[in-house]
Amino acid sequence: VFIFALKQLCAMDTEAIVIRIKTPTGDMDSSVDCPSLLNFNDLLVAIRDVMPEATVTAFEYEDEVGDRITVRSDEELKAMLSYYCNTMNEQRMNGLLPDPLQIFPRDVWHISLTLCCVLFFSSLKKSSAELKRILTNGQINAQDIHYQEQLGHGNGGTVYKAYHVLSKRVLAVKVIPLDITVELQKQIMSELEILYKCDSPYIIRFFSAFFVENRISICTEFMDGGSLDVYKRIPEHVLGRIAVAVVKGLTYLWSLKILHRDVKPSNMLVNTRGQVKLCDFGVSTQLVNSIAKTYVGTNAYMAPERISGEQYGIHADVWSVGISFMELALGMFPYPQQLNVTCFLSELFCCSSQDPPVLPVGQFSEKFVHFITQCRLQKKLFKHLCLSLYNDGNAEVVSMWVCRCLEERRAQQAQGRI
Ligand code: ATP
Ligand code: MG
Repeated sequence: VFIFALKQLCAMDTEAIVIRIKTPTGDMDSSVDCPSLLNFNDLLVAIRDVMPEATVTAFEYEDEVGDRITVRSDEELKAMLSYYCNTMNEQRMNGLLPDPLQIFPRDVWHISLTLCCVLFFSSLKKSSAELKRILTNGQINAQDIHYQEQLGHGNGGTVYKAYHVLSKRVLAVKVIPLDITVELQKQIMSELEILYKCDSPYIIRFFSAFFVENRISICTEFMDGGSLDVYKRIPEHVLGRIAVAVVKGLTYLWSLKILHRDVKPSNMLVNTRGQVKLCDFGVSTQLVNSIAKTYVGTNAYMAPERISGEQYGIHADVWSVGISFMELALGMFPYPQQLNVTCFLSELFCCSSQDPPVLPVGQFSEKFVHFITQCRLQKKLFKHLCLSLYNDGNAEVVSMWVCRCLEERRAQQAQGRI
């Protein structure tokens, strides 16, 4: 990881970068000749020079989706510079002049005041944030997207890495050919609306969807580590943390009454920041049905009751989590062998293969019985010893592992070329 970070920084070393310090009274640009030599304290001193009246202990920058990331140490500064280096390269590749690196100083007094306002106006803030996101989504249309490379091809469509010129964002765009009526297209678009509301660090961020002729394009956040299906056997300390993120992602979806319906390693994405996110969940019944009409096949990760055509529920998602993690732990699909992580897996299988005990329907309402069944499954997942062990929010473990694997893959590709 260190070599990976160094390489990124070395690429930057050849040229100066411009850091724009955003202050309440205006912007202040400073040129840094040798970014790899920059350390956190130097930058903090520069910020304090610009804002002598403030008490600044950290600063933030914005990632590709506009989330603010805090920098409080040399490591976090390196991550910011390496992220900026990638963004700069993307902008150059698309014929654009790189933007300065914008940083937002965090003034402790200002933060406590803001916190009071946020608490007071929290409901108002949420709706305006939602509105902002919807407006931003509306701006994505076909002519503003530059397709770069094909990331993969699945049963239903093809996924491309692309660049959205207006927002200067790297996207993953899934293009699915669908021969359907305009009415069905409208139905799909309205069913996809729930994606605008999805807001979880464990779910891929949705930006927009649009039809061009008989193809739907679904624009989401790009994950630079790709999907888990291409990684070989994942060590338990990494897999444990991935499992925590996957379970949190699913629990979030279930709380919105969305079943994933397609849990498998290729729908679990990672990035070099150590984030793990779920994608391709079935929010649009019409879209799922339309794809299924074109492409027929059995999914190896499907729960038995789903294959036999019974009703699909949370337990079917849980079953697929079990099969997926077994494959990721063993490095092959599915091979019975004892591993520590299989205590977690066997629990999952247990939940899934047997009917969970339910309250007698006659004595309670159907909704209440359903609610208790869901709670039992979710609690079990969360409270499992294996998951609580890895529920430490340590994204660095996953980040280091993703960076190392990507580095190895690049080296292998380079060797292959020679
Ligand atoms: P299926 O069509 O059966 O769901 P799949 O998940 O492999 O199979 P796609 O969903 O079309 O197929 O995805 C193809 C590949 O594109 C994935 O395996 C993944 O490597 C890549 N991919 C998808 N979404 C993203 C993303 N947001 N960021 C980066 N890579 C992605
Ligand atoms: Mg997929």
